[in-house]
Amino acid sequence: MPSLKLRTKLALFYAALFAILLASAGITVYRIMALRLTAAADDNLVDHGAGLWGYIQFHAGKPVLTYDTSNHQIAYFVRDATRYYQLYDAASGELLLESTDSSLMHLALPVSEVGRRVGRPGIDVIAVEGVALRLRSALYQANGHFYLLRVGVSVEEDLVDLAELKRVLFLLLPVMTLVGVVGAWWMAGKVLRPLQELQNEASAISITQLHRRLPHRGTRDELDALAATFNQVFTLLEDAVRRMKQFSAYMSHELRTPLTVLRGEAEIALMRPGPPKDWRGLLTSQLEEFDKLDRVIGRFLLLARAEAGQIEFEMVEFDLCALAAGLGKEMIPVAMSRGISLKVACGGEARLVADRGWIERVILNLLDNAIKFTAGGGQVHIVARSAGDRAMVEVSDTGSGIAEAELPHIFDCFYRAHDSRPTRPGGAGLGLALTKWIVEKHGGVIQVDSRVGAGSVFTITLPLAPPDSSESAATASSLSIAD
Ligand code: ADP
Repeated sequence: MPSLKLRTKLALFYAALFAILLASAGITVYRIMALRLTAAADDNLVDHGAGLWGYIQFHAGKPVLTYDTSNHQIAYFVRDATRYYQLYDAASGELLLESTDSSLMHLALPVSEVGRRVGRPGIDVIAVEGVALRLRSALYQANGHFYLLRVGVSVEEDLVDLAELKRVLFLLLPVMTLVGVVGAWWMAGKVLRPLQELQNEASAISITQLHRRLPHRGTRDELDALAATFNQVFTLLEDAVRRMKQFSAYMSHELRTPLTVLRGEAEIALMRPGPPKDWRGLLTSQLEEFDKLDRVIGRFLLLARAEAGQIEFEMVEFDLCALAAGLGKEMIPVAMSRGISLKVACGGEARLVADRGWIERVILNLLDNAIKFTAGGGQVHIVARSAGDRAMVEVSDTGSGIAEAELPHIFDCFYRAHDSRPTRPGGAGLGLALTKWIVEKHGGVIQVDSRVGAGSVFTITLPLAPPDSSESAATASSLSIAD
């Protein structure tokens, strides 16, 4: 199951909370409303009962409804109060009076029911002809006799109002929940934005930019505390990386001196006449190993100098095509010694303003790799030309190729593709890192296209010299260890 983002989780949580609160509030409002309407209806019934009893008079023991019909207020009240009413003789249970304009008469209570209500007067809720009625029974006394007066009101309107309220609440619940979700989503986004910004800032700090720090927003909240903690970690990391770089520079220097001495001694021993043949072989092999070690240490040192910003470029104008062709031809014997055919194709002129020595190193690195990673019988091509305002060198081979997963890393310092380890004990994984650094410092780009088993194509493009270019001043630059 995909994990939910914090923002989604917060929005869902608040939506659920909102829905529960709204539902509870809706139920409470509905209940209060129902209770209020019932209480109002009951008050009305009490008023009607007491008022109506006041207009019932007894003539020869018979109850008669007597009131001043010319008084509109009284007439209105009596008409309203007598819409649903019944008067029973409490002793016999006989129905004595009842409403004339309703069918309550069909619901005359049996004697036993009258007796029960006389014993316990109270409220009934019944439906007469589809109309909900609330009826109140009360006991009154006149001339030593007890009478049960039932007065009713229609609660139809109240029920319709309550049903309407329920409908509105049911409609409001999803709408308000939706508004709540949108609001919670917006709010969560707003609250989490600084966190997102902090994350973006933190992820932009790579090993090459450990001097950078996360910004303090000055809000003194948890995010500021988090930024401060991250900054402390970056400080520690920066220090550790600086020590590591110092150490590698120091080690390279320290190794080089005894290596030079050893190499010199091996050379002197070889120059002396008369060492046995197997000794000579041993010393020659040692010299080769010293050379390899020297190359690796040389690259280490270069890296350390670049790190410290101690490398200077000597910018001169030259033709890249001629340089590439010359270097390609120089490497033909090396390629041939390994059974590889090296073809050079350079057309026209591509003038650059660059450090010739460093560009030479770039081309040689690419040619060296192409030859190293191509088996006997394979082919290596070097093509140089100008394209628009750029000069281009392409070194292709039919060698081992590079796995797709390794491609993003081959320009990292000390990275060596898995397959190349056993066959290439001499490489330190620094060649392409240096190559990329040099190309980029000259405003160029290096690209690679490779397929395992089919071969690789490395392309560098560099800006052509402007038409009126003259030699530029040397520039100091620094190389950073790739992350
Ligand atoms: P190294 O000094 O080990 O050759 P590089 O930085 O020159 O280091 O190259 C890094 C890795 O890239 C190599 O170990 C190798 O796996 C891969 N690589 C470079 N060039 C080629 C090539 N032409 N064909 C196949 N793999 C290559």
